[in-house]
Amino acid sequence: MSLEADTFAALLVAAGIALIFALWFLGERRSARFFDRRALRRTFRCAKCGTLYSATTTAPVANCPNCAFANPRLSF
Ligand SMILES: [Zn+2]
Repeated sequence: MSLEADTFAALLVAAGIALIFALWFLGERRSARFFDRRALRRTFRCAKCGTLYSATTTAPVANCPNCAFANPRLSF
């Protein structure tokens, strides 16, 4: 076993680990972005006048743009 082969094997392992970490990091970023989008845009349906609307809020309630009635968000 030559030193070059050992170094090459070590580099190969290091590259493999780096690739796994890179893919994991990209996957985490993508799922985090998807979660943010879900958290930001929420659909509400007014219990008073029936208006469907979406609001960019993290709060569990949003006021109706038509009659200003505070509605809880829809759960799917
Ligand atoms: Zn309303």
